[in-house]
Amino acid sequence: MNDYYETLGVSRDASAEEIKKAYRRKARQLHPDVAPGREDEFKAVAQAYDVLGDAAKKAAYDRGQDPYGDPTAGFGGAGGAFTFSDIMDAFFGGQAGAAGPRSRQQPGQDALVRLDVPLRTAVFGDTEDLTVETAVLCSVCGGDGCSPGTGTRTCDLCHGQGHVQQVQRSFLGQVMTTRPCGTCQATGEVIVEPCTDCHGDGRVRERRTLKVKVPAGVDTGTRIQLAGQGEVGPGGGPAGSLYVEVNVEPDATWTREGDDLHCSVELPMTAAALGTRTPVETFDGTEQVEVPAGTQHGAVFTLRGLGVGHLRREGRGDVHVHAQVVTPTRLDSRQKELLHELARLRGEEQATGTITSVSEQGGFFGRLRDAFSGR
Ligand SMILES: [Zn+2]
Ligand SMILES: [Zn+2]
Repeated sequence: MNDYYETLGVSRDASAEEIKKAYRRKARQLHPDVAPGREDEFKAVAQAYDVLGDAAKKAAYDRGQDPYGDPTAGFGGAGGAFTFSDIMDAFFGGQAGAAGPRSRQQPGQDALVRLDVPLRTAVFGDTEDLTVETAVLCSVCGGDGCSPGTGTRTCDLCHGQGHVQQVQRSFLGQVMTTRPCGTCQATGEVIVEPCTDCHGDGRVRERRTLKVKVPAGVDTGTRIQLAGQGEVGPGGGPAGSLYVEVNVEPDATWTREGDDLHCSVELPMTAAALGTRTPVETFDGTEQVEVPAGTQHGAVFTLRGLGVGHLRREGRGDVHVHAQVVTPTRLDSRQKELLHELARLRGEEQATGTITSVSEQGGFFGRLRDAFSGR
């Protein structure tokens, strides 16, 4: 014997209204339009409601008779006017080709929102707050669109069929055509008293804030799919997906190239010539970059693995530090004197942009000059 109460998730003393609500909720989750592949569960729910939703069948079931259980249990197959196959035909469109009423619950649409994130989020990943406004299930009616305590009645025009037939004359004679019923939007039922909150739509618009897990490696244009966070459908149908399109904000310090990050560091001419250590503020903290003596403008120092995390694999890109050698300006007389002396020592006083060959000189200054020119 099937446990129909358990199938619908209601207690044995549930009221007719509670049974109906439970059925609607289950049918909405399992409807073939929105949950393909779960037809068996849907059939079980429809079967349970066929019995528990009918006063006579329910009374017989409560006495121990199951119309879908043991065929000798005494039901004799002669239930009420509403049979199981009617329900199945109504939901699955009917095997005979006649379209039944369509479900009032329709799947919701996807939604797309943009999320601005700082570069740091792309480097490490983070959880970001995102405020969205979408249709959500109406909490007053639970999605069925009916004022609490009321229900639906069969559409007068189509008699619950969801479609109406018309006879038209043509050269072939009379032709029967079928069109969807406009009075009930082809659902076969009419809401008696629409819910005042959603006006019978089963959903209301609501602003809410979501926590979005943004993985490392995202870039501008990356889309994150959040299933079930999109628009709730008409009649409280299951929500579509929410697509979050990431926009990585420009950064004042860093330029991104794939998962590598580039920055530049200014080095005084003297430091570039003599060599130094210079601090670079990375996303992982301060790194000391060794600048060897004789560093040229445009030289690049690479810090492995301190760039943006890869989106679909382990590891991170690199950081590239570009040396910007700065020529001093506004020299005082003493500094000028020293630079003149240096230029003299290096034979660069008449330098015009091309390096002139320096005649061989001995002694200390010659060795110093050789050290500077790398010879
Ligand atoms: Zn409502
Ligand atoms: Zn109708």
